[in-house]
Amino acid sequence: MAEHEHEHVRVAVVGSGFGGLGAAVRLRREGVTDFVVLERADSVGGTWRDNSYPGCACDVPSHLYSFSFAPNPDWPRTFSGQEHIRAYLEHVTDVFRLRPHIRFNSEVKKMTWDGEKLRWDIETTSGSLSADVVVSATGPLSDPKIPDIPGLDSFPGKVFHSARWDHDYDLRGKRVAMVGTGASAIQIVPVIQPVAQKVTLFQRTPPWVMPRVDRAISGAERALHRALPFTTQARRGLLWGLRELQVQAFTKHPNELGLIEKLAKQNMARAIKDPSLRAKLTPDYRLGCKRVLLSSEYYPALARPNVDLVASGLTEVRGSTLVAADGSEAEVDAIVFGTGFHVTDMPIADRVVGADGRTLAESWKGGMEALRGASAAGFPNWMTIIGPNTGLGNSSMILMIESQLNYMADFVRQLDVLGGRAALDARPAAVQAWNHRVQERMKRTVWNTGGCTSWYLDANGRNTTIWPGTTSEFRRATRRVDLSEYELLRVPADSKAEVTA
Ligand SMILES: Cc1cc2nc3c(=O)[nH]c(=O)nc-3n(C[C@H](O)[C@H](O)[C@H](O)COP(=O)(O)OP(=O)(O)OC[C@H]3O[C@@H](n4cnc5c(N)ncnc54)[C@H](O)[C@@H]3O)c2cc1C
Repeated sequence: MAEHEHEHVRVAVVGSGFGGLGAAVRLRREGVTDFVVLERADSVGGTWRDNSYPGCACDVPSHLYSFSFAPNPDWPRTFSGQEHIRAYLEHVTDVFRLRPHIRFNSEVKKMTWDGEKLRWDIETTSGSLSADVVVSATGPLSDPKIPDIPGLDSFPGKVFHSARWDHDYDLRGKRVAMVGTGASAIQIVPVIQPVAQKVTLFQRTPPWVMPRVDRAISGAERALHRALPFTTQARRGLLWGLRELQVQAFTKHPNELGLIEKLAKQNMARAIKDPSLRAKLTPDYRLGCKRVLLSSEYYPALARPNVDLVASGLTEVRGSTLVAADGSEAEVDAIVFGTGFHVTDMPIADRVVGADGRTLAESWKGGMEALRGASAAGFPNWMTIIGPNTGLGNSSMILMIESQLNYMADFVRQLDVLGGRAALDARPAAVQAWNHRVQERMKRTVWNTGGCTSWYLDANGRNTTIWPGTTSEFRRATRRVDLSEYELLRVPADSKAEVTA
């Protein structure tokens, strides 16, 4: 990789999931070809490469969970499995000829702003380079989180996280502990229950679970979509519109969610006949406060005799005995952690050193905040895809990613118009004003008022992950870069800055 050393590019994109690949397509469409995509793994796909656990699937219908510029008339199911989405992203990479830009096995270790040369110096595991602009698409759910459980180190059996599934380990006939009851866990339990000797599920808080209406998309439907592409768009439009209407209940009228809670309880009652199990599974917070989960198999699996629900968190491991906070114990052969990701403590933030020599993590000590979800003050020409407060509770993240790509495209365009060596640094007042608006709107949302603790909230209890509006509002807010929100930086007149182009 020596040939990549001391190289300079116009844009360095970090990550090759939906965000990074989308950025690459968008840059090419803008006529920018001088860019690289730095990826720590050895293939594209991000989330959909790393999460290969049994049962892994998307909670958003296939026709909405895909790029608008790369519609797929051939989605085989209404809700895609991991393997279909991963194949789709490989296909996008080929069709848009992105491979020459991608550097695999290139983990970004450090990015440092050079205020004299107005560029980012980037160190990766495959060499160093510099870039005028960095687009960080390292993913909101990319680095698995395993809780610090006393005694875990001395557990004699197998331990792994749902996002790093060990396919060489055979769960057949094993006593398996599943820790956590989030989106991944509820997909895993129904698949491992029929093969494991026993499944013990550790639940701190029960989720709200709605049925999932998944079916094969018929050959006739697919033929129609192929023959008449507008029907694919119409299908997507309908799926999108419904979710735009639904989100109002989460953002403005949480009290209206009582009716949906009734339906969710009926869904549970159909499968769970034991009243004490039903009581353990009934949430005591408003639906939507934590991510609403979709599954038609989860409750039936919990009703099986070889599944034990421990309605308490795992607190200690003693040899092969797992001890919960309520004192109950279980002997197991394997522990699977479905305990989520580093979300509000974005790992890349420790590796970005800004204009004043502080890391982004230090700058975000009080909580993440970025102008229009993209730019942090003091980090010129650096933007993040799925940055602070761009997450969704009920719709497709691809919609938000594409909005952020509009913003990125205009950012690069504006730099071109400014000409010469220039950089744009978000003004602290603009970041604060944006964040204030977001947090004011957050106050009445179900995520803040619903009476739960969720991974949407940071260590200070502030919601720094979710967008408190519709996706069209975010689309409007990110259509253009407002230059008055940025300070323009130029190379100092007396600088001997020498730029390798
Ligand atoms: C199991 C699961 C199910 C999900 N289901 C849904 C759903 O139903 N609907 C929905 O809208 N969203 C869902 N999501 C959220 C999903 O993360 C986003 O929709 C989307 O895939 C994020 O894309 P991304 O490109 O931003 O991040 P990712 O797909 O996470 O990609 C980030 C990439 O950056 C790379 N990277 C990270 N750090 C570095 C580094 N330092 N150097 C180089 N490369 C680096 C990673 O290897 C990875 O390839 C789900 C997530 C998970 C984990």
